Amino acid sequence: MAINPRLMQAKIEGAATGKVPFVDLKAQLTEISKEVESGIKDVLGSCDFILGEKVKKFEREFADYCGVQCAAGVASGTEALHLSLRALGLGEGDEVITQANTFIATVLAISYTGAKPVLVDIDPRTYNIDIKKIEQAITKRTKAIMPVHLYGLPADMDGISEIAKRHNLFIVEDSCQAHGAVYNSKNGTKKRTGSIGDIAAFSFYPGKNLGAFGDGGAVTTNNVELSERIKMLRDYGQTAKYHHISKGYNSRLDTMQAAVLSVKLRFLDKWNLMRANHAKRYCEFLSGIPEVKLPSLPDDEQSHVFHLFVVRAEERDALKDFLSEKGISAGIHYPIPNHLQEAFKELGYRRGDFPITENYADEIISLPMFPELRFDQIRQVAQTIKEFYGR
Ligand SMILES: *Cc1c(COP(=O)(O)O)cnc(C)c1O
Repeated sequence: MAINPRLMQAKIEGAATGKVPFVDLKAQLTEISKEVESGIKDVLGSCDFILGEKVKKFEREFADYCGVQCAAGVASGTEALHLSLRALGLGEGDEVITQANTFIATVLAISYTGAKPVLVDIDPRTYNIDIKKIEQAITKRTKAIMPVHLYGLPADMDGISEIAKRHNLFIVEDSCQAHGAVYNSKNGTKKRTGSIGDIAAFSFYPGKNLGAFGDGGAVTTNNVELSERIKMLRDYGQTAKYHHISKGYNSRLDTMQAAVLSVKLRFLDKWNLMRANHAKRYCEFLSGIPEVKLPSLPDDEQSHVFHLFVVRAEERDALKDFLSEKGISAGIHYPIPNHLQEAFKELGYRRGDFPITENYADEIISLPMFPELRFDQIRQVAQTIKEFYGR
């Protein structure tokens, strides 16, 4: 059969100008589908749907991976944060410090307990909580600091630990964007996020670095007693069937999701390194465009797991539209800072309270990032950005 040359040409053009999704969950499925299907079949075979054996197995594996004593599977990242604060005994009359630029769930989780969220601006270089501004937010009511390892970069945990020690505060890590990230401490130790504070929360939302096939989350800690309290709270506050010592919740990790996560956990380091590589490529391609400010790449490629690849760009909204016209999906994380959200009106913040967060909200743009992203797709994104700025 003769090949139609016009069709061939169309195919080649299609390859060079194909769509670039923001995340591509299907691409990942191909690699793991056989193992995942067998894991799911096991669960179907046993009908062990709620807190089954595979939940315990995954909890063990995830604790070992993070380098902590205990992990408890819960229903979502939001619940992991909420139950962590509850397990620490926080509630009405307490204050918890976190950063103004984070996903709303961080702040919601604090509100759920009755405690008051107290926000702090971000460090302009890292986008994480500015440790120089934490102490002025501390009051007699402050009980905990909740640093977020935003976009996959660990917060300044040395600095935060010093402040927490000085003021006798708990540290609750929001590790929902940083599965597997390694923090290099000043004292030379390397620790994974989720093993540094008193307790830590992870989300397994499908698009996260370690994602389930639905909602899921986990709480990690070295404190066995705290972990037991999480397990009590997630299961109606019971310590044995129908013995309820607290007004707990129904907030458990499904056995089906645990089966999926056990398979995916074995790929996490590889996928994180692929993300770090893509980030390096983006930075190479995009250096020399003065309108685009790049994130700083850490020396150690495990110490930023690039859940998101965020740059700051002049004329951000027009750039995002231009990328979209060219078939490239980008995101904004996050367009409205928490202190300006209607939901948190009662906190009494105003525009101008957190200038870095507010300025960045108008400039940040998240470029496509997922492990299976291809070299030619990264180049296409970069070329399209150059085209937008006429470079
Ligand atoms: C995703 C996320 C959460 C919430 O996780 P869910 O599983 O969606 O409930 C909390 N904090 C941060 C920083 C997140 O990115």
